[in-house]
Amino acid sequence: MTNIQTESTNLFTVSSDQQKLRKYNVSSFAEIWENKETSAKSLHSTRKFFPEDIITEIKITKYVDKPSYLSVQIDEAKHIMLKPEYLQYINHSCDPNVFFDTKNMQVVCLKSIEIGDAMTFFYPSTEWSMTQPFDCLCGSTKCLDKIQGAAYLSTDISKLYQLNEHITNKIKTH
Ligand SMILES: [Zn+2]
Repeated sequence: MTNIQTESTNLFTVSSDQQKLRKYNVSSFAEIWENKETSAKSLHSTRKFFPEDIITEIKITKYVDKPSYLSVQIDEAKHIMLKPEYLQYINHSCDPNVFFDTKNMQVVCLKSIEIGDAMTFFYPSTEWSMTQPFDCLCGSTKCLDKIQGAAYLSTDISKLYQLNEHITNKIKTH
């Protein structure tokens, strides 16, 4: 999930230069788009979704002791590997259109998603302190620049996002 891409940049690339992309259909609702030049992958919707739609259930393949760029934090000390595996290609955005609900174990639509849109989620909504912080290039006007996990968000910023309970609880006692 380290591929840092933006919805807007992506869509631009596609409409102007289809041959730069390789597309893999991975489910009834999504395909992976791979940029042939950079090998960056992202997950794109093949149908419309509306806010609060449940996009898919999240299953756990295994728990990992040490978080990595591929794991997702679901509790204070629990990190999981995702199933379906293609969910790892839902990249970060500071203006996300999906939410990983780790309580109900579902990927939920936050903002209307059109066919071809990249699905993105806000990493700090699940991750407290990331092992691999990065400089965000999501291109959103709301971009926070450096993404390191919820521990590094100001109170004002954290209020702007839907976050999981294990994160909001930590913020309260932080
Ligand atoms: Zn950003």
